[in-house]
Amino acid sequence: MALPAEEWRLYAARRWAALEPALRERLAAAASLHDTLRLGCGLLRPETEAAALRRLCRRARTGKEPAAARFYREEGNRLFGRRHYGAAARLYSQVCLEDIARAESHGYPERLLPKVLLRKAECLLCLGKLQDAADALSLVENKIAMDGVLTSPAHQTLLKKLSQLKIKLREKESCPEPAQEACGDTQRKLEIWEENDSISGASSSLSLNFDTERGRHLVASQDILPGQSLLKEEAFVSVLCPGESLLQQDSSETPWDTRATNADLYCHCCLRQLLASVPCRGCSYAKYCSQTCADVAWEQYHRTECSLGALLLTLGVFCHVALRTVLLAGFTEVHRLVEWSHGGDKDLHNPEASCKHLREAPARKAGSRDIPGCNDSGQYQSSYQAVFNLLPHAEKHSPEHKFLCMLSVVAICKELQEAGLEAAVLNRESSEKWSKLKTCEKTSGELSPELQTMAEAMLRHVLQLQCNAQAITVMQESGSGDGAVVNKKPVRLATAFFPVLSLLNHSCCPNISVSFSGTAATVRASQPIPSGQEIFHCYGPHRCRMKVAERQQLLSQYFFECRCQACLDELESDVRSVVSMRNSFCCPSCRAPMQGEDMLCCSNEACAVSVSSESLSCRLRDLQQQIKKALELLRDRKADQAIKMLLKCQMDAGNFLSPEHLLMGEMEDHLAQVYATLGKWQEAARHLERSIEIVEMHHGPSSIEIGHELFKLAQILFNGFAVSEALSTIQRAEEILSVHCGPQSTQIQELQEMKTCLSELPKSILQRT
Ligand SMILES: [Zn+2]
Ligand SMILES: [Zn+2]
Ligand SMILES: [Zn+2]
Ligand SMILES: [Zn+2]
Repeated sequence: MALPAEEWRLYAARRWAALEPALRERLAAAASLHDTLRLGCGLLRPETEAAALRRLCRRARTGKEPAAARFYREEGNRLFGRRHYGAAARLYSQVCLEDIARAESHGYPERLLPKVLLRKAECLLCLGKLQDAADALSLVENKIAMDGVLTSPAHQTLLKKLSQLKIKLREKESCPEPAQEACGDTQRKLEIWEENDSISGASSSLSLNFDTERGRHLVASQDILPGQSLLKEEAFVSVLCPGESLLQQDSSETPWDTRATNADLYCHCCLRQLLASVPCRGCSYAKYCSQTCADVAWEQYHRTECSLGALLLTLGVFCHVALRTVLLAGFTEVHRLVEWSHGGDKDLHNPEASCKHLREAPARKAGSRDIPGCNDSGQYQSSYQAVFNLLPHAEKHSPEHKFLCMLSVVAICKELQEAGLEAAVLNRESSEKWSKLKTCEKTSGELSPELQTMAEAMLRHVLQLQCNAQAITVMQESGSGDGAVVNKKPVRLATAFFPVLSLLNHSCCPNISVSFSGTAATVRASQPIPSGQEIFHCYGPHRCRMKVAERQQLLSQYFFECRCQACLDELESDVRSVVSMRNSFCCPSCRAPMQGEDMLCCSNEACAVSVSSESLSCRLRDLQQQIKKALELLRDRKADQAIKMLLKCQMDAGNFLSPEHLLMGEMEDHLAQVYATLGKWQEAARHLERSIEIVEMHHGPSSIEIGHELFKLAQILFNGFAVSEALSTIQRAEEILSVHCGPQSTQIQELQEMKTCLSELPKSILQRT
């Protein structure tokens, strides 16, 4: 999803291969992005490439479709009937409560709206979202008041239902959630924040260093404790990653996907979870949590992006981030920095060049370092200048890849020009004057010089994103979401630029954790960091999840070879890494570990069994398929069948997977989940404890993964009234999760609510357990 749709990538590759050799040479040799763009700008031909792109865009559903609303509403009713509150509430929000006008214009039966709203309020009440429920109820009230006095029986039913729900709401409001216990003293101290003088959003216990080998990097300037906050940064720009279903494959199934996607669940602007959504009036893919967010987005970027939805979906999230970045920066600032990048040394990508520029800049703070991206007073701030100075590594990307990116950003700029949006892009204040001036003038299909400048900056940003894109993740409930035990998984929500966070280098054994709230990132130390040690972020390949070869392969996209301690240790030692040992096959005959590459042999000499690795991999894939089927059974509420199937999978797996294999842990985890849905808490806890043992072997006892598992175990023990075990598990989960996510995170708050609840249980229950 980060890169353009595959068909477009293939199209660009064919075009590249068919270029006149001399032109291809010149493009490959282009020294700067400016030259690349100048040479390639005219290569997007309207009758071929542009037409092909337009065809691809037709697959993306971003326009308004009246039948879709009806479909979602009916699906919502169906799920509501089955008491899938979470899913139903999400689908109802698709019916776009605040856009009554739109529903009317598409023939939505308006008289039915209050009914849908009441249903939704009921859902929200069940979910404990009291404020949202109150909002929905007052909307119904307003609607009824607007309609005047009606006395039909249907109307009477509505009024009755309304008053019932209002009573329920008041009841829930009057017995508020237990007051939150103040967090521990040490935790509070760790949250105390002293901001750095020269790096915005950074703690004063860090300093910004620069050397040619490591580039810019952050170092502890004093001893740091685990859990201590190190950075708090608001994304400079972020774009919600659409769910897969927005790009429809040619399927004959239902035309609308009922699996809610990111775009249905989160605000397009602030990334908070949606319940009652405010949809954009011009498109179907932008939904907001409030009118404020809708207005802010419109003002800052969406009035330009709105009609480009299909194109942006087709070209991928990186292109979208690149466009939004220049829109947020504004033409004046983009122009200034693009011009600056042309001045003097052509090669801006060489840090020396930017340092030289800074050295010439007046009013520098004495003693501050010559670090690229710092402003004139030597401060590093989350600004467009800082984003612009992130390394695009233009010389390291393949010419073919640069060609694809170039063609894509040119396509966006041409579309802007043709849609008459150039004025909005370039000059917000006097847009009317501009549109009169420009639209009649530009018919040749050539990009105006201003749009060429924008395209050049966008090309730079697309290339930068390969190394600097930061995923914003959230813990999302997986499964049906209506069980007593909430199973949460981290999912990628958005792609963003965080110029300060980008200062951190990678390590496969990082010493920090990053957590997100909306579009803000918080970095905390995950272990003690002594003064002088570098702060390391993990870009993805973590030593607990992958072997060194896999990690190095993945890291090649960042154009460096990792030399972290974990990589050095693993590369130096001849023995196979611990990860591969744990995630290995075992002998089907004697269960000893299997060894070898293509042909695997039993390590037990007396056994001498050998099997091709291909056949074992095939068995593993089959097993994964079976597990998937078991989970589908669980979703269809066939718990007994799901258990049977999972137990069979476990038996099967025991014959060829090592007992510590992560999949063994996953199966235990799934079994725990099924038993929990049946209310069999003891069985559930037993299985989850086994899963925790395996997760601990892979990720370590204080990892965030263990934190999430303990959180689940706490819920199970809580539900099973295993009071003392629950309390000690809550304690452990709290200790781990507060280090990684901070004491304010929702999971910590939920744990504290559980604790309060347990401590208030009547003595009689406590004595029994
Ligand atoms: Zn919002
Ligand atoms: Zn829109
Ligand atoms: Zn490494
Ligand atoms: Zn054997």
